[in-house]
Amino acid sequence: MGGGRRPPARRIPGRDPMINFALDDRMEALREFLHAFAADELRPRARAADLAGTVEPEVIARLGEMAGDRAAIVPPLRSDEGLDGGPRSDGMVAVVGGEELAWGDAAMILNIPGPGLAGPSISSTGTPDQHRRFLSEIFDGQGPRFGALAVTEAQAGSDVSNLRTTAVRDGDEWVLNGTKVFCTNGARADVLVVNATVEPGAGRAGQKLFVVLKGTPGLAVGRIEHKLGLTASETAELVFDGCRIPFDHIVGGEEALRPASGFKATLRAFDASRPGVAAMAIGIGRAAFEYVADWSRTEIPRHSRRR
Ligand SMILES: Cc1cc2nc3c(=O)[nH]c(=O)nc-3n(C[C@H](O)[C@H](O)[C@H](O)COP(=O)(O)OP(=O)(O)OC[C@H]3O[C@@H](n4cnc5c(N)ncnc54)[C@H](O)[C@@H]3O)c2cc1C
Repeated sequence: MGGGRRPPARRIPGRDPMINFALDDRMEALREFLHAFAADELRPRARAADLAGTVEPEVIARLGEMAGDRAAIVPPLRSDEGLDGGPRSDGMVAVVGGEELAWGDAAMILNIPGPGLAGPSISSTGTPDQHRRFLSEIFDGQGPRFGALAVTEAQAGSDVSNLRTTAVRDGDEWVLNGTKVFCTNGARADVLVVNATVEPGAGRAGQKLFVVLKGTPGLAVGRIEHKLGLTASETAELVFDGCRIPFDHIVGGEEALRPASGFKATLRAFDASRPGVAAMAIGIGRAAFEYVADWSRTEIPRHSRRR
């Protein structure tokens, strides 16, 4: 396999590009670090995990230790500054990191402990208190913890407005009923962000996000999917049957209940998480391209000589 090193984006002298794709020094250093991590730590473990259809708990714990349980990249809430006081760059971290780590192995990256898609869902819309309780305090670097996002249903994939999972208020609680499918790390998740409607029939306007913590009565794990690819990544069905959660687990708090806020939390969750997912696809594509290019360089001349 090739080294996967990319030349930096080229600037044409005398021309001021409308969009500058060059990474700054900080981001370039991060990219190099993650590239080395992907090459040295993810790839060597990927084949065994793929064949086994799972990643050993010891390997997960080790990946968590090495990645600092990804708590370090949970972005600060509605802040204009990054964690170290520099410019806010969490979106870039997700994109640059997603591409480099998926270049290593896409299933392995999904086994690195951390908030996963629950992270951007809470940090983009949650209250400061929710950010603290559901992200900072749980993903505290003290051991492998996972987060997951549960949006998709059997009849609601691309068409999210068609979801049927309901959240009904009962005093100081919400009661969730419905079945979610294809949840990455759903079975092992310590923190789940679940999309449900508080007003069936209202379409997207009735949809809100809710946090469900592991072990909540009424939450059960259904089928774990057997997939053609990404076999080492857990993809779970989750069943909510009279699952009661505290009222303040609605992401965004009381504000989320205002009619105008409608579908915004879900869209923000997508806005914050999908670029990273798309970057993973680019990383997978890059790795496939390099593999074929390397293969062609060695194999095509060999076959040509035989003729
Ligand atoms: C490995 C994996 C991990 C996942 N992880 C998660 C997760 O963590 N949480 C979660 O909530 N979901 C997750 N998903 C679900 C994923 O978000 C859905 O698969 C996705 O939204 C598409 O939904 P669908 O599979 O029902 O396909 P469909 O929506 O049925 O689409 C099938 C095909 O039809 C096309 N199509 C759909 N609508 C239209 C249209 N109007 N016009 C033209 N073409 C259309 C689509 O492009 C696609 O090619 C995961 C899926 C996979 C495969």
